[in-house]
Amino acid sequence: MSDRYKTVLLFGAPGAGKGTQGKILGKIPGFFHLACGDVFRSLDMTSELGKQFLNFSSRGELVPDELTIQMWRENMHAQTVLSLFKPMQDLLILDGIPRNVRQAEALKASIDVLKVIHLRCNDEGAMMMRMRRRALKENRMDDADERVIRHRFDVYHAETHPVLSYYPESIVANIDAMGSPAQVFQRVLEVVVPVQESHFNRPTSGSV
Ligand code: AMP
Repeated sequence: MSDRYKTVLLFGAPGAGKGTQGKILGKIPGFFHLACGDVFRSLDMTSELGKQFLNFSSRGELVPDELTIQMWRENMHAQTVLSLFKPMQDLLILDGIPRNVRQAEALKASIDVLKVIHLRCNDEGAMMMRMRRRALKENRMDDADERVIRHRFDVYHAETHPVLSYYPESIVANIDAMGSPAQVFQRVLEVVVPVQESHFNRPTSGSV
């Protein structure tokens, strides 16, 4: 179990800002950000897996667990082989996975979850607004349709939110997701920097 990836999970409802925070963190040496949704979106949409992704995501449904976990494993392997992710140096920031308790169970042997950053926002209206803006900017069908957005929230409450109770309460950090990306990032840093310091040799400034 000691070769499990040291991991922080970015957790929260659709539109809470996981992707925004993950992308900023991933630019800092010593952090590697992987968003499951981004990996799905980078697939060839004419491939079998790409078609499956479109089929499920366009309805706001989760892609079946087996396909998701297999794709995640293959992607992590590729990132490691290419040295884009260096498990001995980088804290893995996972975004959008695990999305249900079965996935958390399936990933148990591969990731050592040190913290769960729960980006909390009670204002669904604000999150829906973010999603509509994202739909325009990133051309995302699943965020353009009101009914699909609603369903994504329902799936989050039914399937994803219970993942929080899968992990010990002591490692869950609740962070207010309202505010500017910089304000929220400041809160995220307060949580992740101590995790990085206690598990890795501190990267020196300028290191890559
Ligand atoms: P996201 O970008 O995280 O909002 O994900 C967009 C869509 O990709 C989701 O609505 C799902 O259809 C699919 N997806 C992303 N991550 C997962 C996952 N861990 N399990 C199943 N489906 C996922």
